[in-house]
Amino acid sequence: MSVPPLTILSISEGSSLILLLPSQSAGYIDPGESTAKKTPTMKILVAIKRVVDYAVKIRVKSDKSGVETLNVKMSMNPFCEIALEEALRIKQSGLASEVVAVSMGPSQCVDTLRTGLAMGADRGIHVESTAALYPLTVAKLLKALVDVEKPGVIILGKQAIDDDCNQTGQMVAGLLGWPQGTFASKVLLDTEKQVATVEREVDDGLETLCLDLPAVITTDLRLNQPRYATLPNIMKAKSKVIKKYTPQELNVEVKSDIEIVEVTEPPKRKAGVIVSSVDELIDKLRNEAHVI
Ligand code: AMP
Repeated sequence: MSVPPLTILSISEGSSLILLLPSQSAGYIDPGESTAKKTPTMKILVAIKRVVDYAVKIRVKSDKSGVETLNVKMSMNPFCEIALEEALRIKQSGLASEVVAVSMGPSQCVDTLRTGLAMGADRGIHVESTAALYPLTVAKLLKALVDVEKPGVIILGKQAIDDDCNQTGQMVAGLLGWPQGTFASKVLLDTEKQVATVEREVDDGLETLCLDLPAVITTDLRLNQPRYATLPNIMKAKSKVIKKYTPQELNVEVKSDIEIVEVTEPPKRKAGVIVSSVDELIDKLRNEAHVI
């Protein structure tokens, strides 16, 4: 058995230090067992969303119309980083020819796309819209892009951490009539047989699905550890192509049946108390919290 491909995790600026670790790729297939010698032709489309950075403490706007995004650090949705990492690992293992990152939203989505290109995506697509884009619209736009790009796999995050919808992957699979493997914790592709084996964590343990390609996959947290963009790759990303579309050019009307009535903060948690005995705990649960 041969050693898996190596992934460059970081290069410190001005030094020659390169840290190399074996790839943990779930999509990795031992070259001895795979068809990697054939030139791959499959394209992977990865949807990456620009969201408020996960480490930022969310503030609700004073008019309760939504969450404050002005002067707030924005980043790639963490599940989308995992989706992109998986696509890159599949390409590195010789099973895909191109990774195309897609982001939809205002002009600043280009920054998110540049990050994706610096991680290793080959090309970017920006569908520019200043209107709020809800999952069904994003799914329709992705479907329209599938008609143009003809990918063999679409990989999305299982959910965006801003709206926590967890709908887009399922909707795009429904619109395309493609099989879906959601919350993937392991992905194996066989481009010869045109199938993807997706392992997913469910309440009862692990479920393994076998999907015919083309297919939609959404990524869970434990699928992989996304790489950092290295300085040389950040520089290279500046010259990679980002194609722009408007929703109109893709024949998708941006509208929604969802109306946000009001956004409010969750109620503040009351301070806890330390109980001195099990009896006191039971008494409080029974007579104060009324839960037993
Ligand atoms: P959601 O259904 O909103 O929780 O989003 C699930 C996934 O759909 C995200 O992790 C992205 O992969 C994709 N997605 C949703 N909205 C967008 C967007 N505006 N641009 C690109 N990808 C998106």
